Amino acid sequence: MNFEVLTLFPEVIESYFNASIMKRAKDSGIIKVNTINPRDYTIDKHKKVDDTPYGGGAGMVLAPQPYVDAYESINRCENSITVMLSPQGEPLNEKIVCEFSNYDQIIMLCGHYEGFDERIREIVRPREISIGDFVLTGGELPALCLIDAVSRKIEGTLGKIESANEDSFSNGLLEYPHYTKPREFRGLKVPDVLLNGNHKEIAEFRLQKQIERTKVRRPDLFRAWESACENSKHSL
Ligand code: SAM
Repeated sequence: MNFEVLTLFPEVIESYFNASIMKRAKDSGIIKVNTINPRDYTIDKHKKVDDTPYGGGAGMVLAPQPYVDAYESINRCENSITVMLSPQGEPLNEKIVCEFSNYDQIIMLCGHYEGFDERIREIVRPREISIGDFVLTGGELPALCLIDAVSRKIEGTLGKIESANEDSFSNGLLEYPHYTKPREFRGLKVPDVLLNGNHKEIAEFRLQKQIERTKVRRPDLFRAWESACENSKHSL
């Protein structure tokens, strides 16, 4: 998987790959992360990449020329998708992450300041993705969220120890609670069922906890899971 990130702040992206699982994935060649700085493509003699908005208003707008030229400099492979990080995009979720993990290349446009000149959207025609209903100063953190989540789906990124098979959302529910040593901490005990070695009982306990937790914390997910269960019963 090849991630190409258009950003005015490449150091923000690069620093994330200096530690932990993502460093390992990059060092072992499972993922490649390349940054392209639109500032290197501006034809403005002062290296400007933004300007004041037509019609007035606060903030600076990212100019089309440096972004479009930087974008067009990328060697696109056949199985590629272009994503613009934007609070106005589709909310990122597990389904989109799985879908994106099937591409060989993801090109990402990170905005800053007031955001992109509209013509960048019109020319590039990206899929717009938001990481939530709040506004950040730039698209770098959202791009890193996307890279991290997609990379976890690629074989080899996670070792057995960090396996994603039972993570939240993988079966439509939130994950069950975890416990490790010691058996008792400040009077709080690990549930007995987890200590008895009976795998069937452990699996039942965990599923029950997943259901309880999802019902309380994410009723929307719970309803979707319940109706998926109903539908699969009917289709049997
Ligand atoms: N003026 C824009 C608006 O109201 O829609 C917000 C611009 S924001 C300050 C600057 C950049 O940060 C955006 O162009 C986008 O790349 C990124 N960004 C901010 N919040 C985001 C979010 N929730 N999801 C994805 N990207 C976001």
